[in-house]
Amino acid sequence: MLSVNEARARLLENFHPLDPETLAIDQAAGRVLAVDITATQDLPPFANSSMDGYAVRCRDVATASREHPAALKVSGDIPAGSGQPLPLVDGTAARIMTGAPVPDGAEAVVPVEDTDDPRDQAHTAPMPEFIRIFQSAPLGANVRPVGQDVRAGQIVLRAGMVLQPAAIGVLAALGSARVEVYRRPLIAIFSTGDELREVGESLGPGQIRDTNSYAVAAAIERYGGRVLRLGIARDRVDQVQAKLQAAGEAGADLILSSAGVSVGAYDVVKAAVGAEGKLDFWRVRMRPGKPLAFGNVRGIPFVGLPGNPVSALVCFEVFVRPALLKMGGRRRWEKPALPVTLLEPMHSDGRESYLRVIIERRGEGYVARSTGDQGSAVLTSLVQANGLLIIPENVTEAPAGSVLSAWALEAWD
Ligand code: AMP
Ligand code: MG
Repeated sequence: MLSVNEARARLLENFHPLDPETLAIDQAAGRVLAVDITATQDLPPFANSSMDGYAVRCRDVATASREHPAALKVSGDIPAGSGQPLPLVDGTAARIMTGAPVPDGAEAVVPVEDTDDPRDQAHTAPMPEFIRIFQSAPLGANVRPVGQDVRAGQIVLRAGMVLQPAAIGVLAALGSARVEVYRRPLIAIFSTGDELREVGESLGPGQIRDTNSYAVAAAIERYGGRVLRLGIARDRVDQVQAKLQAAGEAGADLILSSAGVSVGAYDVVKAAVGAEGKLDFWRVRMRPGKPLAFGNVRGIPFVGLPGNPVSALVCFEVFVRPALLKMGGRRRWEKPALPVTLLEPMHSDGRESYLRVIIERRGEGYVARSTGDQGSAVLTSLVQANGLLIIPENVTEAPAGSVLSAWALEAWD
């Protein structure tokens, strides 16, 4: 039997970042950047004012105060968007707006609030001939220098990063209308089981509805994958083989099945994968979800998730989520684990265990309590959970008050 870490490391060796595709930047938010982005220009491209006010030389306002203002002739008007203005004439000020280019010779901008400019009538009043300035201004005050944000030649965005809104903004500012991102993985999924009915069908005796393919599809989309639904295969080798073939023909990047991978008399998934490709069957020292079928079907990785819905989703978090992130170009795929204090004792059989818990803030830290019945078919206890508490291998009793690591499934508050 493999440990969770051994199994995950072996599984991840079989996944590689997919090819990039080029997208318009308004389609690229949340996607993973596939190349480093080097700035082709300085940002801002020209020195500009960070305030509405008056561009001046420092020495002309050096002694200015409310009692003894500096009176300067206004020699120019520089709105945002104007071309490079004429150099500032000695002993004068130029009215300037936020974002407008600062004229050569100007050393600072005095905010309009520190002048006698009647700014409440700014739209209608003509530009004053003279301006009284109530404040001195140090060199560079309220001037954003060329390249304050970005220098030409600098790497501004790194391959592997998720394009957050600010990164999309940087691309726009640099004039990059299109960007190379990793392709989203296409995941073919199917369920197996003679007892399964489609979600819209009524149930006969002994039947249940296919829960897993919907839950797993939602998990795939959450982590950036695209879903190809292949429906339900009965517990027959030929039906499972047909699904595997369909997944191959559709060009899936990963095939996921659920159920039929244990030791039951009708567990046919392993035989089908063996017939269509190569099967590696692992028993993993974890709970829930001990049996994990792994293999490939003509080069496409295959993961056979357990049938119990909780086991399927927990195994998804542990094994499939990192595989999706790695295929999607992410450089890091570990889920962050944070310390939580147990409000009640918790037990395990010594396998690495993932318990459904409700985590809340308490003082500076977090506390956890169980959502109740931890049976691997009790899906509603996973609905209630906002975290998975990890009991490490070989620990069977974790008393109240002990501190263990937990994964967030939802925000903790
Ligand atoms: P198996 O691995 O085939 O023995 O299935 C284990 C358990 O999971 C059984 O109780 C199945 O009925 C149940 N199960 C299998 N597939 C699904 C599914 N798609 N949705 C909900 N439950 C399932
Ligand atoms: Mg079954």
